[in-house]
Amino acid sequence: MTGPTGQPRTAYADGAFWVYPNPTTIRQYVMEDVMTHLADPNTRRLATACCACGRALRDAVSVETGIGPVCRKKHGFGTAYAALTPRQRKAVNKLIHAAGVACEDGDVAEILKLAAKVEKRGFTGVADKIRARYIKIRTKRASVAEYGWTPSRGEFPLGNTHLVLQVWTPYSPEFNAIRKAERVRARPVRQKTEHGKFHWEFKVEHGVDLMRVLAQAFPGQGMLTDKGPATIPTVAEFNATYGAKTGVRKIGS
Ligand SMILES: [Zn+2]
Repeated sequence: MTGPTGQPRTAYADGAFWVYPNPTTIRQYVMEDVMTHLADPNTRRLATACCACGRALRDAVSVETGIGPVCRKKHGFGTAYAALTPRQRKAVNKLIHAAGVACEDGDVAEILKLAAKVEKRGFTGVADKIRARYIKIRTKRASVAEYGWTPSRGEFPLGNTHLVLQVWTPYSPEFNAIRKAERVRARPVRQKTEHGKFHWEFKVEHGVDLMRVLAQAFPGQGMLTDKGPATIPTVAEFNATYGAKTGVRKIGS
């Protein structure tokens, strides 16, 4: 039995029949769907990589949500997610998907904004993962005692309670060159760790000097501090904000 255009067809009991399109026609239909989808300005972009681990997404659910099956399981999607209403689930999927797209674009401000929203909905693990993957610079205040650093030569007037500002950055010889050129004193803890990261310790009162170095080495990049995520200022931004304060030298002056 063949249809009007020559393709084979199946007759159903109720008299309706289904024309089997040939594989080329099927491909054409799919392509037309995809083209229409992409041409629509309201269409959301498809995520290609998991927002939490960066692996390629392979199934429809993952592409829709922007997170892979392993990470969904790992970051509480089984239980926390099941407790949500369908409407809430849709909202979370939308946020995570948008975060994935922002990550692909390297849009730090957008990544931070979306990660905060994901966290607010109770998915702290995923939010942390998103930030950790795309925000490579971290600072942390710790007391000398907490870090087990024995002060020498009156280095720390307050002794063991003196605060140290620890900073981790990606491996960057420029960071150290700028630090030296700016005459900012710091102690390298690790020049290069197994994760390819620099780890330095600055005196906490040299926080502005640390920012002076970061603004030149990593302008506009995301940073995680004890107070939460932040964006490293550009040189112009540093000069406009920090440079306006008394006693702070502007960069390049
Ligand atoms: Zn993943």
